[in-house]
Amino acid sequence: MAIQLEKYKAILAELKDKATLIAVSKTNPVEDLQALYDAGQRDFGENYVQELVDKASILPKDIRWHFIGHLQSNKVKYIAPFVHLIHCVDSLGLLKEIDKQAAKNNRSMDCLLQIHIAKEETKFGLNNDELNEILALVKADSFKNVRVLGLMGMASFSDDKNLVKQEFNGLKKLFDATDNFSILSMGMSGDYALAIEAGSNMVRIGSLLFGARNYSNL
Ligand SMILES: *Cc1c(COP(=O)(O)O)cnc(C)c1O
Repeated sequence: MAIQLEKYKAILAELKDKATLIAVSKTNPVEDLQALYDAGQRDFGENYVQELVDKASILPKDIRWHFIGHLQSNKVKYIAPFVHLIHCVDSLGLLKEIDKQAAKNNRSMDCLLQIHIAKEETKFGLNNDELNEILALVKADSFKNVRVLGLMGMASFSDDKNLVKQEFNGLKKLFDATDNFSILSMGMSGDYALAIEAGSNMVRIGSLLFGARNYSNL
């Protein structure tokens, strides 16, 4: 399926300056990313380390790469030299490893804390205690090479709009309760309008832009 350029423009117009659009390009071929790049898109989101490294080596260097999938600590080193924002910090151990790899690369790395807001147990993310532990360490300036810029969450995959709204509102509350956060990453193809309504300022949209994913491309 070809890239949905009309849809892309419509979404940009809809988001205006309310939210940054991350084009989620996992499983999609570099030709499709290049087409969206040529239309002006610079922020792309990927879920798999090897796929991201391969694509980043081929595509234009001014792309801002967002890592949005579950990240294993032992793979941080492969993306540390160039990744723009890691959305999915779901453990203290991972945050420590990001800090370490950032130092090794003489840079500061930006990330978001992923919060578990969905009913589904299978989704990743921090619970309240884990979040508070990390926030205390951040406050104490324990991480010299990472900046925690905000929160990320995924709502339940559900047709129940009230449930999805509730989950987004809960994340917005947490976001507001914390000083100095600037990024609230929530909303995907199926629920981004609800997310914006709830106060999201960064949406991660894949299938609406690229068409349905074909995982056999991996
Ligand atoms: C794949 C993915 C998206 C994009 O999903 P779509 O429904 O295709 O828009 C957004 N966020 C995360 C974390 C993802 O893994």
